[in-house]
Amino acid sequence: MYAGQMVEEGDAGSVLKSPRHPYTEALLKCRPTLGRRDDARNERRLPVIPGEPPDLTAHSKGCAYEPRCADSMKICSERAPEMFDGQNGGTVRCFKFGG
Ligand code: SF4
Repeated sequence: MYAGQMVEEGDAGSVLKSPRHPYTEALLKCRPTLGRRDDARNERRLPVIPGEPPDLTAHSKGCAYEPRCADSMKICSERAPEMFDGQNGGTVRCFKFGG
């Protein structure tokens, strides 16, 4: 779920092992792991997703995740994606998979 909408659905094992939506992928990278260190600084820091969650009271015509998405394309700010076949038995709300 992101901004009140389902962004990815499917078999839990498949989604956790091979997330399709950029938000699912980024979120899973933020999971704490015992002993993980930031190799560059040798510090114990949790990754974060840059940016802020959207203002749900403001109308946006594009993808709600677009301001934070590393994979954003031109179409992403022009209209909202529907759910597409995620090619892993599930569905994903992202133009990387259709539109
Ligand atoms: S539709 Fe575009 S902005 Fe939204 S998650 Fe997919 S690539 Fe990112």
